[in-house]
Amino acid sequence: MAKKTQQTKFIGQVTKIRQTEPQTVIEWPRALTHVHTYGMLSPFFQGLKEGKLKATFCPNKKCPEDRLWIPPRAHCPDCHTEMKWKTLRNPVIGKVYAFTEVVYAGTGIELSTPYWQIDVQLPGLATVPKSYLLYGKPYIGMKVMAEFRTEKPSNTVLDYYWVPVE
Ligand SMILES: [Zn+2]
Repeated sequence: MAKKTQQTKFIGQVTKIRQTEPQTVIEWPRALTHVHTYGMLSPFFQGLKEGKLKATFCPNKKCPEDRLWIPPRAHCPDCHTEMKWKTLRNPVIGKVYAFTEVVYAGTGIELSTPYWQIDVQLPGLATVPKSYLLYGKPYIGMKVMAEFRTEKPSNTVLDYYWVPVE
């Protein structure tokens, strides 16, 4: 007679029954993979993994906008010329322009809450990029320095963040 010790086991999740009348309907969750390209902005994300903050600029000498863009733009918003890349020199130091405490994050936010979302003013930029403060409490004008998630990068924009300089 066979031993009962090596039985085949059910290792799945118990299926939720939604209704039994007039017939049984179960919930069978499915996950889907969203395939997304960074396209012409790929150098920005590659840069973060290497500890570099990369901005784009318009190479058109006649363009009215000669400042840098972060988040980067593939094409100039002002004259539609294909942008070029410039790596900001480390340490990248900016000033807190605005901040808010995120207590209840929206679906898909991959940061623990509460966290400080900060907008950082950087010299030479046409934009005020939004990111987060890794620790400390922000105030308007606070000096912050960019740091990078070079070990175990998330391969997302979360691979750079700010830390207090003082
Ligand atoms: Zn332009």
